[in-house]
Amino acid sequence: MLVKEFINKTEKDYMITTLLQHYKVGNVKVKHKAMKDYAQYNVDTGTLELSTKYKEIKPRQLKEFLTTILHEIYHAMDAKKYGWRKFKDMYETEMNMIAQGHYPDKSDPYKDNKYEIEAEKFGVNNMLRWKSHFTKK
Ligand SMILES: [Zn+2]
Repeated sequence: MLVKEFINKTEKDYMITTLLQHYKVGNVKVKHKAMKDYAQYNVDTGTLELSTKYKEIKPRQLKEFLTTILHEIYHAMDAKKYGWRKFKDMYETEMNMIAQGHYPDKSDPYKDNKYEIEAEKFGVNNMLRWKSHFTKK
């Protein structure tokens, strides 16, 4: 894939499909919906939601796009590992623990949530590798 003026919908879908298959979450429930973020893993329903808002992606948005998709895929991998209902419970328990002040160094039930921190680390750590993989083709 060449990074030209923009990455079209076919190329965008190809990247998502490749990543889902690579991380073996190809059978996770996927829903397309209009939303601001590129993607979002819905913990309550065990669904990977993909935005229909971005028909194409500009090259300068590629890093953020890949980091987001990888971050959300990590949630899907967790959900697959534990079963999504169990993962939902684990995630909510973590949120409640933070909200109730069980951790002295954590205050935000979302940002300080260990599942969010792990997912973001995974996204950031793998983004460049995939970026070069997709842009070399
Ligand atoms: Zn997340």
